[in-house]
Amino acid sequence: MVEKIKKHMNEMPYTDKKGRIYKYGEFFPPELSPFAYNETMAQEYFSISKYKSLKNGFRWKDPENRDYTIEIKIQDIPDDIHNTDESIVGKVIQCSHYNIQTNESICTVGKDICKANCTQAFKIIPKEYEFYKKMNLPIPRLCPNCRHYQRIKQRNPLKLWKRKCMCNGKTSINNVYTNTVEHSHGSDPCPNEFYTSYSPDRPEIVYCEKCYQSEVV
Ligand SMILES: [Zn+2]
Ligand SMILES: [Zn+2]
Ligand SMILES: [Zn+2]
Repeated sequence: MVEKIKKHMNEMPYTDKKGRIYKYGEFFPPELSPFAYNETMAQEYFSISKYKSLKNGFRWKDPENRDYTIEIKIQDIPDDIHNTDESIVGKVIQCSHYNIQTNESICTVGKDICKANCTQAFKIIPKEYEFYKKMNLPIPRLCPNCRHYQRIKQRNPLKLWKRKCMCNGKTSINNVYTNTVEHSHGSDPCPNEFYTSYSPDRPEIVYCEKCYQSEVV
């Protein structure tokens, strides 16, 4: 039966709206997905624009029309939690990626279109206000979606670089770190190479597993 099904799938493949052919072994065509590209994890790790999404045959979810007026503009959000009172709870606060004039969300760094599904505005709930006050934290300036993407950016990307161990024998190659013990490679530079999610242009010192463990264990 398996052979028969495979043969059938290859003889009568699925053709999507873009004319792309899906035979046996292909992943499901994205047009059958009940979710739009920007509703999935794909957008979190491989952010693309609406244009690029539609061009590739992925669905795209446009923001819903929101019926509200922004009550607190970016420039009116106080820097210090103590310069505000409970009246901020429940107010509609502008996300600092959202430009009211152009009705577009732009990232503050890089000035690119914000790909974080910016909701343009947000509210603070009473418990949240209490928490900020207790922890001495300012009111956020970004909507929850923009905050989420900002946090994700701090993670290492899903990408590996081939790199050489940065242990130079007694110190790290950039002389910033001095080893605390003698390593198996002695005072010569460590020859080990490996894959790491730390890109070469990052400031962190990256040691191979052996050198790292010599230092921390
Ligand atoms: Zn936002
Ligand atoms: Zn090493
Ligand atoms: Zn070493």
